[in-house]
Amino acid sequence: MKIPQQGLNAKDVMQELNAHREGDIKWREGKTFSYIYDAGEEVENVCKEAYLSFLSESGLDPLSFRSLLQLEKDVSSMAKNHLGGDENVVGSFSSGGTESIILAVKAARDYARAEKNIAQPEIIFPVTAHAAFHKAAHYLDVKAVVVPVNQDTCKPELDAIRGAINENTVLIVGSAPSYAHGVIDPIREMGALAQEYNLLFHVDGCIGGFLLPYFRKLGVDVADFDFSVPGVTSISMDFHKYAYVVKGASIVLYKNKNLRKYQFYACADWTGYPVVNPTVQSSKSGGPVASTWATLRFLGEDGYLDLAQKLHEATQKFVAGVEKIDDLQVMGTPEMTLVAVKSNTINIFHVVDEMKVRGWHIQAQLAVAGNKENFHLTIQPSNVALMDNMVRDLEESVKAAKELPLSPIPPQLQSALMAVASGSIAVDNLGALLQSAGIDGDKLPERTATINTLLNHLPCAIRNQVLLSFFNELFSE
Ligand SMILES: *Cc1c(COP(=O)(O)O)cnc(C)c1O
Repeated sequence: MKIPQQGLNAKDVMQELNAHREGDIKWREGKTFSYIYDAGEEVENVCKEAYLSFLSESGLDPLSFRSLLQLEKDVSSMAKNHLGGDENVVGSFSSGGTESIILAVKAARDYARAEKNIAQPEIIFPVTAHAAFHKAAHYLDVKAVVVPVNQDTCKPELDAIRGAINENTVLIVGSAPSYAHGVIDPIREMGALAQEYNLLFHVDGCIGGFLLPYFRKLGVDVADFDFSVPGVTSISMDFHKYAYVVKGASIVLYKNKNLRKYQFYACADWTGYPVVNPTVQSSKSGGPVASTWATLRFLGEDGYLDLAQKLHEATQKFVAGVEKIDDLQVMGTPEMTLVAVKSNTINIFHVVDEMKVRGWHIQAQLAVAGNKENFHLTIQPSNVALMDNMVRDLEESVKAAKELPLSPIPPQLQSALMAVASGSIAVDNLGALLQSAGIDGDKLPERTATINTLLNHLPCAIRNQVLLSFFNELFSE
């Protein structure tokens, strides 16, 4: 496409633009899990009105746009009160969980460099921690030290973490809860360990930080995970998940200003205006922080509590439904609204495909470090009313999956796959393998069980290469 010589009329442009949605998943129907956190039209409207109202204001310079500075301070103080922070706790608003996590790792790295003289920093996290920690380590040249989890509880053992600590360790990470299995790591014990070794300790509350306090108010048994736990030095929490703000809204909070200082970046070493960036972004829209501020104030504690109640009931219903299906097992004991389901008898990826045939969008998760492949649900408000239908369709889908082959990989490719997996064939030769799985250039097949099974058999490093080359095609014109 080229920029048109003459501009088009606004109505036509909008019509063209909206037509692009045709191939998207129909998330408003309530059959989509994850991706979208849909608390209904009223919330959406407030959120969008506030977003549009501050869309054009620039967050580049808080001295020129005092409004955005104040909105961020308000959001930050609502967040710290929500997470048991005292008057010393400070935060930074960011574009999402990944940015919040990158910032927390940067702060830890630079703190350790400056105050502990650690030149080759390492961070320790369970294999269940979000990929964003791998990404942060990759971007920031920090070593990721991954510890396994107990395969029944899906939580790390304290001894494994203790065993990974050395003189280069700068940060320990725990999740509340983990995305994949929805279980809360032993935060209190991990905090004590961090204190014992004088280490920083980050709690990833990206998905649970906002919702768990409401679950606790409902009487659900929620283990302590916030700043009330001794040893916790930073927490990430997303607003664009269970605070129901549109995408681009998260926060990272620190125990005190001294720690946050290491996250900030300043540059007066160039010929332009002196740059001071608290976060990764420099110029940024005021929309996200304004919509967060407005949504928190619009829904209020009562609104969030009411939604939390519904989510809790829906999750219970789903877990009970799965427990009635012989071929399926819930992994660990889900402590919030995230559930992972595996099978020892059928190919779980067929279930994902069969659910898709019935209009449901659920995520496939691959086997990693002995943790079995599974499908994952993040239950969000617009799913709640459909939970009975969902469980019924799941029963049907399992029945259909039982009729399908356990391994959908064509027999003639089994040996090629083994050769790639063992490293005796280069990844460049994967083309034929992928084509047989229905992957042609940037096109994915309707049914994904073959490609998922294939990826599931490959070592992680090769999976990553396959996924990267697929996306490199996907984003080519
Ligand atoms: C979503 C999530 C993240 C990453 O957040 P993004 O907003 O997708 O960048 C990190 N940790 C957990 C536990 C999450 O659920």
